[in-house]
Amino acid sequence: MGRIRILPDAVANKIAAGEVVERPASVVKELLENSLDAGARELRIDVERGGRRLIRVADDGAGMLRDDAMLAFERHATSKLADVKDLTRIATLGFRGEALPSIAAVSRLVLETRAREEATGTRVEVAGGKLLRCEEAALAGGTVVTVRDLFFNVPARKKFLRSEQTELAHIASLATHYSLAHPDKSVRLSHGPKTLLDVTPVETLRDRLFQVFGSRTMSDLVELTPRRTELALPPKHLDPEAEPETKIYRLTGFVSKPQVQKLNRNSIFVFVNRRLIRDRLMLHAISSAYHNLIPPACFPFVLLFLECDFDEVDVNVHPSKTEVRFRHGSFVHDFVRDAIRQELIASRPASSIPAGAIARPPASTGQPGARLPFSEFTQRLEDFRTVEAAADPAEPSAAVQPVEDLPEFVLHPPPPPAARLDFGAASLPVEEPPPPVLKLAVPETHGPLPVGAAPAEPLSLSALAELRPLGQIHDSFIVAAGPDGLWIIDQHVAHERVLFEQVLRQQAAGRLEKQQLLLPMVLDLTPAQQAEYARIAEDLHGMGFETEPFGARSIAVKAAPAAVPAGDVEKLVFEILEIREGELRKLSLDDLRRAMAASIACHAAIKVNTRLDPSKMEWLLAALAATECPMSCPHGRPIALRYATRDILRGFHRV
Ligand code: ADP
Ligand code: MG
Repeated sequence: MGRIRILPDAVANKIAAGEVVERPASVVKELLENSLDAGARELRIDVERGGRRLIRVADDGAGMLRDDAMLAFERHATSKLADVKDLTRIATLGFRGEALPSIAAVSRLVLETRAREEATGTRVEVAGGKLLRCEEAALAGGTVVTVRDLFFNVPARKKFLRSEQTELAHIASLATHYSLAHPDKSVRLSHGPKTLLDVTPVETLRDRLFQVFGSRTMSDLVELTPRRTELALPPKHLDPEAEPETKIYRLTGFVSKPQVQKLNRNSIFVFVNRRLIRDRLMLHAISSAYHNLIPPACFPFVLLFLECDFDEVDVNVHPSKTEVRFRHGSFVHDFVRDAIRQELIASRPASSIPAGAIARPPASTGQPGARLPFSEFTQRLEDFRTVEAAADPAEPSAAVQPVEDLPEFVLHPPPPPAARLDFGAASLPVEEPPPPVLKLAVPETHGPLPVGAAPAEPLSLSALAELRPLGQIHDSFIVAAGPDGLWIIDQHVAHERVLFEQVLRQQAAGRLEKQQLLLPMVLDLTPAQQAEYARIAEDLHGMGFETEPFGARSIAVKAAPAAVPAGDVEKLVFEILEIREGELRKLSLDDLRRAMAASIACHAAIKVNTRLDPSKMEWLLAALAATECPMSCPHGRPIALRYATRDILRGFHRV
């Protein structure tokens, strides 16, 4: 008696319908998921020509019984579901019973499989959905699925495939992330003769991240302290004796420090019960966690694993099974947001000064199985996606690199950033540069540590409290000595962070200090500003402004937050009235308040090109150390750079 059954219509009809095979990566995804569901510990993926010519996934899992091997190619044939009730608590990655028939319909597929309990295996050959052969074969335990010539019989689909390297990048991303979700398994991905990924079982996710991305990436990441939370649900039946039901959620993973700023969401990976998902709710929770830590249009690198009861999440929403619906969405949202934010605040990660002068190309370049720093990997993926967006599918773009360049995914490190702080000028521009310019903080240009060097010191801003200010560079940056190295602190953004938190605190307590202006300031507003003023007048009041309408198109400002110099008040008011024109249009009132506080802090903060005496510097460092997030200003720029003792020693060739 086989394990696979054809789902009854009643169940089949409840399954989110649609095509699963869009591109080579979707084939890899379905086959990998099948192998994982079969309990495999070793997964091998071979592809040729970006998966167009060949995709082969081999596993050492449970294998299929003889009768099942053919049945698996029927629609809705699965061993994973039995009745409708199972659909509400899906514990396996697959459940639709459609992947194998769908793939076999658009390719030449060979299935070779042997169940542990049978002495011989089975070989099934299907092309374009037609069964060509089914025979007994001497095979090792486990399953090998070989898919050749994808879309050979669907030219229209074939035309829409992107370049080989784009398709390969999708496959590589998928394999990498499934390998991260399963540190206890071996995963190997080869493209033709080249190995892109080859990882052996390890104990922890940290070890796996290290295997895949190397130590440089690890220094960009903060590990989440594993968290657990409970959700008490009222009893289902109105029985006074019934116990409330408790749902347990667990969260683990890694998130990037604020200085890692990605331009898109491609580096955010969320797994729910080890299933890779794309979910707007989760993305929103992550963005909220980084709110005011990184600039609004930037994204972090995130690898999250949420575990919960299977019936807390509905995965039967979309055929690709990557969209999910949480039964208690806002609870999950807040749990994830708070966990990440608290971790970032608690670990207070500092930026390090790129040791450009001593950077060397990675020694591992070109070695098979060499590690791929995630920044480069994800950057590479981003490049692919950009190319993909730009390229005409019918015409391979000249910008696309030959596929031979791809396999190791190990690139030379980017050149050290040009010295962006040009101290040649007599004074620094007071106009603040847009955030991306301050890439100075991204520690991507670190050379690898010499073998045997001291392990990386944790970069933590807790050391700020012990710093001894030595002086200023260009009256703008405080130089300070600390037990763990040399620090440079941007005095303007440091003060901005201090004031930002102070303004929010005072505002929450309803006692924001204000100053009366000698003469009311009359400001003419555009129609859009008038509309905005009408909307936020009350919040302006809460922020320490006293304003009132003055004629049809003007307002009079009579008082402003005490810290803001009178000369800045006009600019500040206009800035606040324009917040909604920018990125915050759709955001909440709370976001608006934060944006206002950020504007106030920016105008009130010590400017660059301002001489500070030692006691003022000491005060500022102490005040910064006491803030919740001393690592980045409310606009997301880094505040402090550290030149670690280790790097100083290295620079002087003492290690
Ligand atoms: P689903 O995964 O939704 O059940 P599929 O079409 O992907 O549907 O697979 C059909 C069935 O074939 C599975 O339920 C499983 O019993 C069997 N199967 C597929 N791939 C494997 C594999 N690698 N190892 C063991 N069994 C497999
Ligand atoms: Mg499946």
